[in-house]
Amino acid sequence: MTVDQSTDDEYDDRIKAAIAAAEAAGVKLQPSADVLELIRSADAFTFDVDSTFCADESIDEIAAFLGVGEQVAALTAKAMGGSVLFQDALAERLGVMHPSRDDMQRFLDGHPPQISPGIPQLVAALKASGKQVFLVSGGFRLVIHPIAEMLGIPVDHVFANTILFDHDGAYDGFDPEEFPSRSGGKAEAVQHIKQKHSFKTVVMVGDGMTDFEARAPGGADAFIGYGGVVYRENVAQKSDWYVFSIDQITRALGSGSSGNGNGR
Ligand SMILES: [Mg+2]
Repeated sequence: MTVDQSTDDEYDDRIKAAIAAAEAAGVKLQPSADVLELIRSADAFTFDVDSTFCADESIDEIAAFLGVGEQVAALTAKAMGGSVLFQDALAERLGVMHPSRDDMQRFLDGHPPQISPGIPQLVAALKASGKQVFLVSGGFRLVIHPIAEMLGIPVDHVFANTILFDHDGAYDGFDPEEFPSRSGGKAEAVQHIKQKHSFKTVVMVGDGMTDFEARAPGGADAFIGYGGVVYRENVAQKSDWYVFSIDQITRALGSGSSGNGNGR
């Protein structure tokens, strides 16, 4: 089965290998008629940011910038492998990073956003079809707000973590009231979005298991998994549709046959 002939040339060897693995694992690499209809009629799309909307993991980037990349990577691995609560893992990693307001500003100055290929076109297409766009991330508002602004997404459509600083600009914890600061928080955020805006149908796009968990009663009605940055087979197998190129989603919104095949 060919995933999407018009973009086949774009895929590098790593992605081609992931596509072969996904095919062998029975991943839904084509949208069903029901999923297509749901995508086209959706009121809103909610996106994960790290390794989905953007092609990097911002906490890792910030940790490396602050010289504690390996320590934080070890804590991330520990958190993913065990039963550590997200809020504890976040506190532990931020405790090691201890970023000051100045640190964060220097990081932002030196690290322009790595927006995933095809995202600006998808956001434009979603808006053109009257759909609203939201970002739901375990990352930080300091990093995500500028990205949202670049793409014309209102800041009140961003759900992410807030780093707190004291009067001198030193690290002073994080805001525990933000949905994504705790385990299950992304799913809560999507439920909140759906309820607050009285949306009938919401589509979640993401690369991780916590993104998939937003597809639940009262939350997202469909989950599109994205493997363009990292392929995770457990997430791929649960996805209503799994894509390796954001352009596939953009094309699915349209008539399906009008694309020029060169969406990047
Ligand atoms: Mg992610």
